[in-house]
Amino acid sequence: MKKLFAVFSIFLLISLCTGALPVWANEDTPDYQATVSTDFAVIDKTYGQFETEEYEMGNAVNNMLISVNAVKSESSLFRAYARFRYAKTGLWTRYLAFDSEYHFSAVETVSAYQLLFVVRDPMKGKTTVPDFTVQGVYIDEKLMEYTMQAPAEFEPIKIAPKPSLISRQAWVARPPKSSYTQHAVQRIVVHHSYIPNQSQYKGALSIRGIQNYHMDDPKTSWTDIGYHFLIGPEGTIYQGRPETVVGAHASPNTNAVGICLIGDYDPEKDPIPPVMEKSLVDLMAWLCSNYKVDPGVNIYGHCDYSTKSCPGLEVYKRLPQYRQKIIATIGQK
Ligand SMILES: [Zn+2]
Repeated sequence: MKKLFAVFSIFLLISLCTGALPVWANEDTPDYQATVSTDFAVIDKTYGQFETEEYEMGNAVNNMLISVNAVKSESSLFRAYARFRYAKTGLWTRYLAFDSEYHFSAVETVSAYQLLFVVRDPMKGKTTVPDFTVQGVYIDEKLMEYTMQAPAEFEPIKIAPKPSLISRQAWVARPPKSSYTQHAVQRIVVHHSYIPNQSQYKGALSIRGIQNYHMDDPKTSWTDIGYHFLIGPEGTIYQGRPETVVGAHASPNTNAVGICLIGDYDPEKDPIPPVMEKSLVDLMAWLCSNYKVDPGVNIYGHCDYSTKSCPGLEVYKRLPQYRQKIIATIGQK
């Protein structure tokens, strides 16, 4: 009983320390979700290789996000690989290499996957893979076909200035667990946080809470915060991942910049503050002009790719207005 109380006290203490922060809960519900433990370990050896079994998903999906949690010595060269089996033909892709986070997108669905880990360690240290997580979602094949096309050329008349941002250092971000995957910026996807809503928002503390949740929750285990930018109701813009690398916010993630508005913007929830809207429009004007993204075509709400209401119906209704403002600011040749 005493022991139970001690455990409970620790739990209470942790709750009191973190209890002010609501749990982040606005990711898509995946059609496939797995967290798999492995006993792969390379200890005092220069080379090790481990191939998982072939995992059947039950649901066929066309977007997958795989996060591998590798604990490695500094000298070790770790590489993960993933391959996928197409549902219709039964054919496997070749093994595709990555560091820790892999985004797979295709028009055709896949129904199985297999992973391979390879370690080279000239110093004979210790490398283990305690676990990896896999999320798969199905997105309408027509939408996938459209999204995966190269965007039409867009040439702005002028480059909008980059709005001032709270750097990662300034909000005390944790470093990413591993290296990112580079991508070309072609689309913008707007989100809302839903939780925290405006009354639960506590500035940088909330941004750190979101990052911790994305990196530490066993369902996600992402390499870093999923979004590229987050905007507080008071108009503060925080840098998440660099916009030049693939994020984790709405499948298909490759080529998409994710911006999260803190608050709940479904009808009769939080009001939309004009300062937050201004920050969003300024940020998107800079992104569109700097990366030649056509604001009239390639600004989306998360709900364009998901059954969720994100970024909230009230914000979604205003996207056409924001697109117009951006076009008026940066022009088109
Ligand atoms: Zn969203």
